[in-house]
Amino acid sequence: MWDFSTEPKFQAQLDWMENFVRHEVEPLDLLFPAVGDAYDRRNPASMAILRPLQEQVKAQGLWACHLGPELGGPGYGQLKLALMNEILGRSLWAPTVFGTAAPDTGNAEILAMFGTAEQKERFLQPLLDGEIVSCFSMTEPQAGADPKEFVCSATQDGDHWVIDGEKWFSSNARFAEFFIVMAVTDPDAPPYQRMSMLIVPADTPGIRIKRNVSTMGESDELDQGIHGYIHYDQVRVPLDAMLGGPGEGFKVAQARLGGGRVHHAMRTVGQCQRAFDMMCERALSRTTQGELLSRKQSVQAYIADSWIELQQYRLMVLQTAWKIDHLPHGAARTDIAMCKVAMAKIYHDIVQRSIQVHGSLGVTNETPLAHMWQSVPSLALADGPTEVHRTTIAKGVLGRYEAAPGLFPTEHLLPKRHAARQRYADVLAEHGYWSD
Ligand SMILES: Cc1cc2nc3c(=O)[nH]c(=O)nc-3n(C[C@H](O)[C@H](O)[C@H](O)COP(=O)(O)OP(=O)(O)OC[C@H]3O[C@@H](n4cnc5c(N)ncnc54)[C@H](O)[C@@H]3O)c2cc1C
Repeated sequence: MWDFSTEPKFQAQLDWMENFVRHEVEPLDLLFPAVGDAYDRRNPASMAILRPLQEQVKAQGLWACHLGPELGGPGYGQLKLALMNEILGRSLWAPTVFGTAAPDTGNAEILAMFGTAEQKERFLQPLLDGEIVSCFSMTEPQAGADPKEFVCSATQDGDHWVIDGEKWFSSNARFAEFFIVMAVTDPDAPPYQRMSMLIVPADTPGIRIKRNVSTMGESDELDQGIHGYIHYDQVRVPLDAMLGGPGEGFKVAQARLGGGRVHHAMRTVGQCQRAFDMMCERALSRTTQGELLSRKQSVQAYIADSWIELQQYRLMVLQTAWKIDHLPHGAARTDIAMCKVAMAKIYHDIVQRSIQVHGSLGVTNETPLAHMWQSVPSLALADGPTEVHRTTIAKGVLGRYEAAPGLFPTEHLLPKRHAARQRYADVLAEHGYWSD
């Protein structure tokens, strides 16, 4: 059965969310607009606004909707989550208010999947409750897209692992209570079994944040960003700090990255919609050469192309979410990669056109478009570059095909036409057509 409708009861919840995000949450975006603000639990002013909002979300049963009931979430599944994330994606703070902010969501997932009872109690529960922030520390200064190049190591010394090495772009390191660090534990093992994951509390001696790297559009003063360049210098954690088994680092990383990518794609639908809404409003508000911008053919083309692309992208994301809900684990891998690649392109195109229609106002810091534009390149890099995901898509799709059995393609017309004539030779002969 094919169905594109939303249950009225769930639609009522979406309507509540929409209203709540616009009127209660978006003010936080304006008051505390830096990327790291939503993660800084040490600011009493923002916390005083955040906590009561989170209580309202919990009272509505909408807290941490990415989690199944076994983890205290409503377990709505990915399709409903996609519709919810479209709304949350409009706002910087909304994911924090609703308990679905990355990278904490992904970290919570792997703690839930691979953590021991003790790890869950100590790290997962406060994370789920929104009390603390966590950090995923995988990328290294010399290598990102190819984890086989990672060298940060953890060696066993008695009843401890000793971590040595550097990590780059560990988001939210400065706010985190703990880090999940990917380290080489067996350099002689096959490449995908060399690494393990370790949970490292932030106050463990030997962790030094060399600097907090900022990205374009943020303050360029050194150390003002949120992406930690970290030196782990003889950092000792007990043997039971390992998350998953020895050599399972890749497996654990893969388990979190798929969900993270698709949730990001869902939120990006909301961002694209916001940029699109702005473009339409501007086109209907601004007059030039005696007529509204909306009457200009090129502006109409911007709007039409953006709407087509947004609808295509939204349906792709929703279908991917549906597949995750209904197909066996891993079956939506190609689809998730498709969402990841499309996300960066469509966001770029729609935001760019919206800026263009806004003219000079579009390039100022006086609309949300500036922040959107500055985050465009990150979408093509975070959680792996576009090129790598294209390879995943191509491999996934090509896996459904086989090489042609002979020298010519199976669609070669000469043998096919010959076969067609053979099949209907009698009829063709009867009506005076040629025969082979
Ligand atoms: C906003 C943001 C947040 C991030 N947060 C985190 C985090 O919390 N924790 C963490 O560990 N990391 C994080 N990262 C790092 C992210 O995972 C890496 O940037 C990404 O994996 C790419 O690695 P790299 O930056 O080292 O680029 P490289 O691996 O050096 O790649 C550079 C470029 O080379 C090309 N390239 C690479 N591989 C291929 C290939 N196979 N085929 C064709 N071309 C290729 C692509 O053009 C690519 O963009 C974050 C990044 C961003 C931008």
